[in-house]
Amino acid sequence: MSEESYGIDDLNREHFESLDASDRLSHLRDEFILPSDVIYLDGMSLGALPSTAEMSVSRVVDEEWGRGLIRSWNDANWIEAPQRIAGKIAPLIGAASDEVIVADSTSVNLFKLLVAALRNRNDRRVILMERESFPTDIYVARGVESLRPDVELRLVPSGKLQSELNSEVAVLLLTHVDFKTGNMHDMADLTRRAHDVGAMVLWDLSHSTGAVPLELSEWQVDLAVGCGYKYLNGGPGAPSFMFAARRHHSTLDQPITAWMGHDQPFEFSLDYVPASGVRRLLSGTPPILSLAAMEAGLSVWERVDIDLVREKSITLSQSFLRIVETQLGSSEIALASSRAPERRGSHLAFHHPNAYEVIQALIARGVIGDYREPDLMRFGFTPLYTRFADVWDAAVSLVDVIKRKEWDQTQFRQRSAVT
Ligand SMILES: *Cc1c(COP(=O)(O)O)cnc(C)c1O
Repeated sequence: MSEESYGIDDLNREHFESLDASDRLSHLRDEFILPSDVIYLDGMSLGALPSTAEMSVSRVVDEEWGRGLIRSWNDANWIEAPQRIAGKIAPLIGAASDEVIVADSTSVNLFKLLVAALRNRNDRRVILMERESFPTDIYVARGVESLRPDVELRLVPSGKLQSELNSEVAVLLLTHVDFKTGNMHDMADLTRRAHDVGAMVLWDLSHSTGAVPLELSEWQVDLAVGCGYKYLNGGPGAPSFMFAARRHHSTLDQPITAWMGHDQPFEFSLDYVPASGVRRLLSGTPPILSLAAMEAGLSVWERVDIDLVREKSITLSQSFLRIVETQLGSSEIALASSRAPERRGSHLAFHHPNAYEVIQALIARGVIGDYREPDLMRFGFTPLYTRFADVWDAAVSLVDVIKRKEWDQTQFRQRSAVT
């Protein structure tokens, strides 16, 4: 796909249809099952259903579990699933396959790696994070702080990160792409700055993996966690993954020591001896059914060039932004994300005083984005299954809902448990 074919010249639907016709990723949409009456712009919260997931899960249920029973740990190689599936994530993040492992949730993995990082820098006491972080990351750090009275969590505004990086900092814990604004840090630069003051880095890649190209090895990243159910399309509550640079493996000391991270789990010895490689980050038994769905999602990624995905993501989001801003004055809607696409991940956020209602009105029209407190509307662009024509239709709907005040109805004010 050349840059030009993703260019935006005309603001009309035919033009966007022609972009779909020349899109080298367009065939990938068939690898997903999507309702025909929905335009899905929320893949950054829950990725779409890969068409092979159902078969993959039902095969594991019927054959491997139903027939194979306990034998499947060996015969179907269940025991290797965390490493095997990690091997499919590694190329997406610029890591070697023996530096990645799949387990648990992002929150739990953050806990494990944060404690491991602190133990690795035990002459220091500060965890440095930004206030804008996804709250679960902050809650995890608070939990670590409560177990380690010597440790201090320093929460600073984004703009102060660099000036707060000093020789007291044991670990810099940052989310690469901000969950609200979609704004993206310069991972290579901040990692270098952290290393310059002797701190470790722990990156949260929840909104980056499968959205933007990553080069963790080249950028000298120490540790990272990522999410399985967003851009990787692993299914609701899919396991998360951890990255640990090989140079740290022999000293990584994570706190949830359990048998799957033991060097010889089936010796059942009383002493805990961690496995020599990244497997020491495992704790309990891997969730085989969830991993079966996740593997189906990742098999799509095996055939995709992430640079093409990035290129299309930028054109999709720039198109959406341009249509919306051309049709709506800045008094109606305000971009919360950076204007520079290279400084964003794969979603856009807008402020609107009635953001919640606008999102509900859009959902009623079959256009699914989401709402984040206090006044943000988020729209995610997932190039594997989002068409240019979808972006046109969604943007036109958003403009309509706002211009005609379609959001101003009681039914759209009702809040559910999950927003
Ligand atoms: C999505 C996301 C998580 C999710 O954590 P879970 O443990 O899977 O609930 C964590 N951190 C960030 C930054 C996220 O975007």
